Amino acid sequence: MLSRLTLKRTLARLGVVASLGLLGACAAVSTTSTGTVGIQRTQYMSSLVSEQALQQEAAQQYTSLLGQARAQKALDTDPAMTRRVQGIAGKLIAQTGVFRPDATGWNWAVHVINSDEVNAWCMPGGKIAVYSGLIRQLKPTDAELAAVIGHEIAHALREHAREQVSQQMAAGVGLSVLAAVTGSQATADLGQQLTEVMFTLPNSRTHEAEADLIGVELAARAGYDPRAAVTLWQKMGALGDRSTPEFLSTHPSPASRSNDLAEAAARVMPLYEQARSR
Ligand SMILES: [Zn+2]
Repeated sequence: MLSRLTLKRTLARLGVVASLGLLGACAAVSTTSTGTVGIQRTQYMSSLVSEQALQQEAAQQYTSLLGQARAQKALDTDPAMTRRVQGIAGKLIAQTGVFRPDATGWNWAVHVINSDEVNAWCMPGGKIAVYSGLIRQLKPTDAELAAVIGHEIAHALREHAREQVSQQMAAGVGLSVLAAVTGSQATADLGQQLTEVMFTLPNSRTHEAEADLIGVELAARAGYDPRAAVTLWQKMGALGDRSTPEFLSTHPSPASRSNDLAEAAARVMPLYEQARSR
C-alpha cells in the first residue's frame, strides 16, 4: 500500500497531479428525496467514481454473471418463479420515481439464479438478481418477497455501492486512486471494487437501515403490506450465519430492526391503503 506521501510523489513524478486535493475531492450529493419514511443524510461521493462509470461497470458484470448462470443452466430455470419475481419487482420499480425521478429511466433487469444460496441483490443502475435458495428456504409471501426486493432496489437508488467505493478511495486505497488518475487500469480497478462492495463486504448499519425504510415505502406504494418486512427479516435472521454478506445483520439487534421496520410500516400504511383501493 502506498502512503499518501509516496503516492503524492509518484503522481507528481508522473506529471499527473501534484496536489492531494484531487484525491480527496468529494462532492456532497443527495441521491434520493426523503420520501414518507424520511431519509435524511448527506452522502459524499468521490469525483473519481461517477455514477455513469459505475453503472456501466455494473451492466458488464451483470451480463457476465447471467452468462455464467446460463452456461450452468441456472438462469431463470423455473418459469413460474421467474414470472413471480419479475412481476413483484416490476411493481416496485414503477414506484422508484418517488425517490428519484431518473430511476424510472434506468435500464432495469430482473432475473432468478438457481442456487441454494440465500441471496438477492440490485447492482447500480437497477440490475437485479434473486436466488432461488432465498425463495425455497424462506418461503416468502408476495409481500415478504416485495420487502426483500424493495430493500435491494433501495441500495441502488441510494447509490450505496458508489458511496462505499468512494469511502474506500478516501481511506487511501492508493493503488486504485493512482490507477484511476493514470487511466490505464482504472476500469479493471473500479470493477474489482464494485465486486468487493457487492459480494464480499457487508453493508454498514446506516446503509441497511436506509434500505429497510425505502424498501418498506416502495412495497406499500406498490400495494404490498409493508408489515411483511418485519416477518421477512425475522425469517432471514433465523438463518443465522448461512446468510451472505448482504444479509449479515449489521443491526444492533434483531429486536431493534423489527421495531424500526414496524414503525416505518405504520407510517406508510396510508400509502398501502391508497394503493389497494386503486
Ligand atoms: Zn442490504
